[in-house]
Amino acid sequence: EDKNVAVKTGCASIDKILKGGFRIGTLTEMYGESGSGKTQIALQTAVYCGTSGCVFICTEDLFPVKRFNQISQYVWHDIKDTECKKNIFIEHLTEAHELISCIRVRLPKLLKFNKISAVILDSVAAPFRCENTNYVQRAEELKELAILLLNIAQEYNIAVICINQVTACFTGSDDVLPTLGLVWSNLISCRLKLTKTIDYRELTIAFAPHLSNAQGAKFIITKNGIED
Ligand code: ATP
Ligand code: MG
Repeated sequence: EDKNVAVKTGCASIDKILKGGFRIGTLTEMYGESGSGKTQIALQTAVYCGTSGCVFICTEDLFPVKRFNQISQYVWHDIKDTECKKNIFIEHLTEAHELISCIRVRLPKLLKFNKISAVILDSVAAPFRCENTNYVQRAEELKELAILLLNIAQEYNIAVICINQVTACFTGSDDVLPTLGLVWSNLISCRLKLTKTIDYRELTIAFAPHLSNAQGAKFIITKNGIED
């Protein structure tokens, strides 16, 4: 485990298989079905950033302030809500072109003038949903976004974490696949899959050159956040 190469989630089992957490200088994707724990892991990671700072970009729902505060209170004890939020920069966007312009223009300014160790995008999928889309333009925008994010991760030495949605697998099994296709998957550095059963949830490594994908990390979600 090395604090200088990873941004931790604060969940021991997950941080262990990720060798400390989300790797800085790279682009990590988390995908999984609705309710599998993507947003909860992202929120807890933002909480653990603490004074190291975090940018949280919401494209689906409003930032879950109450849940963020609940986890913050548990992690940082007597720190007030306002203090918890001081080092987190929240953006709300819905359109792909807005997202790209935010990442091209606003994000570098934030990163230059503030101490920030992670950028979280929840989700990358929503602005690229297919409704009346020009597919060629969509692919171009997606590629531009991925390259911008990757460059930011490398230039500012931060972890960039993108949440992706899933689509049904067409092979007849009930497995799910991440959306956005090859343009996107070829540009991300690490892909993590989340699944849930009745008893527990699990994070497994779909691909990550720097990690061994032997075993998944089991976790549960409680009022305190994500735990072993
Ligand atoms: P989606 O794709 O719909 O956004 P998601 O993967 O982001 O789904 P999360 O929001 O991370 O899903 O997880 C939702 C789950 O987290 C809930 O189903 C619930 O089981 C659990 N959860 C959320 N808040 C709490 C809480 N305060 N106490 C216990 N469990 C909670
Ligand atoms: Mg979510």
